Amino acid sequence: MVVGSTELLHLLEKIADRIEENKEYLTELDLAIGDADHGLNMDRGFQAVKARFGGWSTQTPSQILKGVGSTLVSTVGGASGPLYGTAFLSMGQAIDGKERIASEDLLPLAEAAIAGIIKRGKASAGDKTMLDTILPVRDALSSLLYGGEADAGAAIAKAAREGMESTKPLLALKGRASFLKERSIGHIDPGAASACLIIEAAVDFLREHA
Ligand code: ADP
Ligand code: MG
Repeated sequence: MVVGSTELLHLLEKIADRIEENKEYLTELDLAIGDADHGLNMDRGFQAVKARFGGWSTQTPSQILKGVGSTLVSTVGGASGPLYGTAFLSMGQAIDGKERIASEDLLPLAEAAIAGIIKRGKASAGDKTMLDTILPVRDALSSLLYGGEADAGAAIAKAAREGMESTKPLLALKGRASFLKERSIGHIDPGAASACLIIEAAVDFLREHA
């Protein structure tokens, strides 16, 4: 796997499309334990990302990821805007100077995204947030380094989906959903769901471009 700027823009387009297709689903999840804006927030952000592609075509993957981060910070709003924004900015910093993203960059990228999200939002595993999707993906990536997995994409997508589903029985300890206390139990966290959609879109894209 080698992803240069052109491929990265295609990947971001896939992510934007996946979010757009699932806008209502994300909003429904946020209606149950939040304020019903997560689908709209994420769609607004990724459509803004798409609108900036023209200016990014001559940039490095690192510059593009940083551009995505600042676009998300300024357009998504809510709690998730600064969190996803920081995740993308941190991923951009993690590959500073590189012309291409290779397989061995995936784990450092995941680590950087997680560090950014934790620095900003101070959440931990099991708090019922986007991190509950992303942390298992990081773990899956790190166990893939030891080899033996026939289908790396399937392992990553499974980790994301199971991570997202793991949020259902949890009590929300961060963000708006935490105001509901016990009433937050029994619903999938919207941010865990959007993180899963982003990761699934990335896996699909990398499969097609392996
Ligand atoms: P808001 O809650 O401000 O309306 P969104 O609806 O866009 O913002 O995003 C809500 C999502 O943000 C939650 O489902 C959760 O995954 C995520 N989130 C909220 N607070 C945190 C935090 N401190 N750390 C990580 N993720 C968080
Ligand atoms: Mg919301």
